[in-house]
Amino acid sequence: MEFRLIDRIRERTALLRDDVRLGIGDDAALLAVPAGQELAVAIDTMVEGVHFLSGTAPAELGWKALAVNLSDLAAMGASPAWAMLALTLPGEASVEAQALFVDGLAEGFAELAQAHRLALVGGDTTRGPLTLSVAVHGFVPPGQALRRAGAQVGDAILVTGTLGDAAAGLRLLQDGQGSVDAAANYLIGRLHRPTPRVMTGLALRSRASACIDISDGLLADLAHVCAASGVAAELEAAALPCSPALLEKCAAQVAREFALSGGDDYELCFTVPAERLDAVREVLRGCEGGATVIGRIVAGSGVRVRDEDGHWLTPQRRGWEHFA
Ligand code: ADP
Ligand code: MG
Repeated sequence: MEFRLIDRIRERTALLRDDVRLGIGDDAALLAVPAGQELAVAIDTMVEGVHFLSGTAPAELGWKALAVNLSDLAAMGASPAWAMLALTLPGEASVEAQALFVDGLAEGFAELAQAHRLALVGGDTTRGPLTLSVAVHGFVPPGQALRRAGAQVGDAILVTGTLGDAAAGLRLLQDGQGSVDAAANYLIGRLHRPTPRVMTGLALRSRASACIDISDGLLADLAHVCAASGVAAELEAAALPCSPALLEKCAAQVAREFALSGGDDYELCFTVPAERLDAVREVLRGCEGGATVIGRIVAGSGVRVRDEDGHWLTPQRRGWEHFA
């Protein structure tokens, strides 16, 4: 099926890896897992109108579909190796329009794949509502994968990069305020081209006690860590890392709301035992995005947030307000 489209994808994503014995073109790929490594696998699907706005450029889609998966590997401390791409394309588009779309998609995908020496080894191409599914495979030494379980009372909680940018970028696009200035461009860029923190994930192997990537918002994802670890988290709102662009485009309250609950950050949230914190900070100095301490693990369940005045915040329908 769809040989010409598949050829266009293969040409644009070509990358040599010794462990790919047979890539795109047969009924299955043949891959050699390095001796002594565990395979970490993840898959994520993006549906038009659900996970991305209609009209998003194909190159942005290709980048992001891979980025969200690399972010999952990063959260496990796995080193990326291979990917598969299942593509569902609307049948109504002309052959030329489909070719143009697939070219852009493959180029955006390849840009990020090459940066991580990841090979696209296969996939599937079908007709239907525009949907991209990417599966990724990475390696991790046995016992060294980072997990959601493992956070202990007293651990520091950290996040990489800055939070809330993508949610602000989405809001700008929805309000018809795309690309009006440099700050807007930056936030929209963070929505379309998230940076998976692969290096950081590798550096955190056998150093972090627990780790997750933030896709549904800090509070929701940190709650998963707490539930899996049987602990609670206390966050300091004042410590949340926000970009200059976010603070320029949003009121402080809104920026905090995006940082706590906005989706699509694709930063890592992880916990570190207090006695290892200095060593981890040292190791992360060489990793893009750095990391910021935002709170600590305590006994109990759930996630609490304290504002600048020391009051606990409570979620309201229209954001976060003081606990009454
Ligand atoms: P089959 O019918 O045997 O499943 P396909 O025609 O679907 O074969 O695919 C032919 C080859 O092209 C396979 O190696 C498959 O992995 C690859 N392929 C198909 N679609 C894609 C895609 N969107 N991206 C990458 N490889 C693809
Ligand atoms: Mg097939």
